[in-house]
Amino acid sequence: MLYNEPSPLETKVLSRRFGAPNSASIDTYLADQGYQAFRKAAGMKPEEIIEQVKISNLRGRGGAGFPTGMKWSFVPRTSPKPKYIVVNGDESEPGTCKDRVLIENDPHQLIEGVLIAGLAVDAHAGYVYIRGEYRYLIEVMEKAIGEAYAKGWLGKNIQGTGFDFDLYAHSGAGAYECGEESALLESLEGKRGIPRIRPPFPAVVGAFQCPTVLNNVETYCAVPAIIRDGGAAFAALGVPKAGGTKMTCLTGNINKPGVYELRLGFPVAQMIEEVGGGIPRGRRLKAMIPGGSSCPVLTAKECEGATMDYDSMSARKTMLGSGGVIVMDDQTCMVKALMRIIRFYAHESCGWCIPCREGTTWLRKILVRFHEGGGTRSDIDLIGDIGKNMLGRTFCPLGDAAAMPTISFVEKFREEFEDHLAGKPCPYEHADHGIEVLSLSR
Ligand code: SF4
Repeated sequence: MLYNEPSPLETKVLSRRFGAPNSASIDTYLADQGYQAFRKAAGMKPEEIIEQVKISNLRGRGGAGFPTGMKWSFVPRTSPKPKYIVVNGDESEPGTCKDRVLIENDPHQLIEGVLIAGLAVDAHAGYVYIRGEYRYLIEVMEKAIGEAYAKGWLGKNIQGTGFDFDLYAHSGAGAYECGEESALLESLEGKRGIPRIRPPFPAVVGAFQCPTVLNNVETYCAVPAIIRDGGAAFAALGVPKAGGTKMTCLTGNINKPGVYELRLGFPVAQMIEEVGGGIPRGRRLKAMIPGGSSCPVLTAKECEGATMDYDSMSARKTMLGSGGVIVMDDQTCMVKALMRIIRFYAHESCGWCIPCREGTTWLRKILVRFHEGGGTRSDIDLIGDIGKNMLGRTFCPLGDAAAMPTISFVEKFREEFEDHLAGKPCPYEHADHGIEVLSLSR
């Protein structure tokens, strides 16, 4: 199923089959040269597969952007322990909705990417961990897995290659925290989803204490194209330090919200104006969050000349993250936007460490009071200080995910906080604001 009309400005690699009739079925996948990359990989040495992934400059698409080939090379392939392939499909970052589109439209592309990862590290079993709220995707994935077994693309001696692989779909229980890789592994093992102490990292001690490749859905989906067309061809689609395309989710105040596949390095201005059809009602851009709600916000001025890639965003002290772009127009209340972001993180904090558990709750309470007209001048610094005291002091990145937008909103939009001190009503609330400030996912 498609969620939006495709744009002629897209570069369709992972989404090349989106919108085709029955694109999720194995028959149409096979008819479109599906699983041929696996066949090719089965004739390659494991180190050759990893080398192609390294050449492709594929970086993890879940948010951290770690080089995928390097991650795979950390797995001790000759270890006597079993090795596992785990897919992080716990997509919960507000503003991000790309993995569900990839699974729904083309689940066999994901299975093929997992199989190739299995060949690369000598793994023979894998798990697709899917966000609990994506209940319907479990059915899509299980159906695809069933088809792959029935046609001999999973199981014993796949297509006569001598390679065995079993794959399971696993539902999360609805916790954002389980998108953090070590918490995901705990949850997969049937335990409470809280992070592990690292090192050791999952490549060495992962699922069931065994070496594990753990990547995002989009990352695995890129692998068949890399093997099919060669790592260099994929690298050429992007920028020098990051190859390929990015599934980019355009949300917020935008005329054509949706998920678009854009080359890495795509200009932000063109993305908003031409791919997304511009900002509704002729309004101007006030701010943009480039990679999901945990990223520091950019002002309209900072967006000038920016491109959608890791280095351009890093130069602006923010992140490409998961590619969840949230566009905010000139009538957006930035206090309310931050309040809603923090409400999400306060709700999702697992409560294990104090700076995150208490910090997100304090921020939520202060921001709600502040937005409702009960703020004081000292609250503005207090909000920023709480964020700064959380940053880098929590056990997992959720604390930073709440702290980074907080610090940036206060630093970049301080005058809007000051404008709220006069009391109700919020000076930025407009009755005709057509779109909710943020389409938060829960
Ligand atoms: Fe839990 Fe938050 Fe600490 Fe992460 S940072 S372990 S979510 S309390």
